[in-house]
Amino acid sequence: MPELPEVEVTRRSFAERIAGARVLAVRLGSPLRWPLGCAPQSLVGRRVGAVTRRGKYLWLPLAPVEPGPPERSDGGLLMHLGMSGSLAFSDTAALASVGKHDHFDLATSRGTLRLTDPRRFGAVVWSPAIDAAPAATLLARLGAEPFDEALTPAVFHAALRPRRTAVKTALLAGDIIVGAGNIYACEALFDAGIDPRLRCCQLSRPRAERLLASVRKTLSRALELGGSSLRDFRDTHGSDGAYQLEARVYGRAGLACESCGATVRRILQGQRSTFFCPGCQKR
Ligand SMILES: [Zn+2]
Repeated sequence: MPELPEVEVTRRSFAERIAGARVLAVRLGSPLRWPLGCAPQSLVGRRVGAVTRRGKYLWLPLAPVEPGPPERSDGGLLMHLGMSGSLAFSDTAALASVGKHDHFDLATSRGTLRLTDPRRFGAVVWSPAIDAAPAATLLARLGAEPFDEALTPAVFHAALRPRRTAVKTALLAGDIIVGAGNIYACEALFDAGIDPRLRCCQLSRPRAERLLASVRKTLSRALELGGSSLRDFRDTHGSDGAYQLEARVYGRAGLACESCGATVRRILQGQRSTFFCPGCQKR
């Protein structure tokens, strides 16, 4: 599943190349998770603005070239990669060759942005603004961006303190901080020396601070590796693998911890696998 670092690496792979391009054609394949929400033809002629990311969503502003009636007003596409999606931007007009899993093409004057998504949990949704429905509704429950300076250790600790759930579960929920998907949550908790079963309300302020720093460090590293493994801007699935090679607990159940030699364990928390080292990670 594409996680936040993969989505951000994807964004960086095409944002500058597509900015300023004019939409020439739109092709829809099989239905995605949600309908597009506008006539594909209404996007033709619009100009692509600066692509941004919020959580695992990308926002592609599409401004009308000239102001006109309401149906030609501002707006953009909110995109999500779902469980198995990848976005690729090719300089050539790739519309001629369409694969079975290619379900959305935005052909522009600078190249074609294509969503390939075998499981079709991904989405491309029109919204008149990022802070208006439907985009605002989809983004409403997202927690803070991990690198947002407003997310201070005090804010992070205050958000965790009222909760009785396990700290790992709270990270995965994404409503306090986004981006700590399963692999990154496991690795951040290992880095911070925190037992994933510890309840949020039992996490001290210094340990919350340590955890926030570890989440940031883990995501930064994943971004670095994702960038290096996405050189052809084609396959977002490779980046996860590159990070996994460096994982210290994730996927290592039964193996010796490289720090202390204890056996790495795998448990289930909220139906997700949690990997941790009982020697390094304390309650
Ligand atoms: Zn250990």
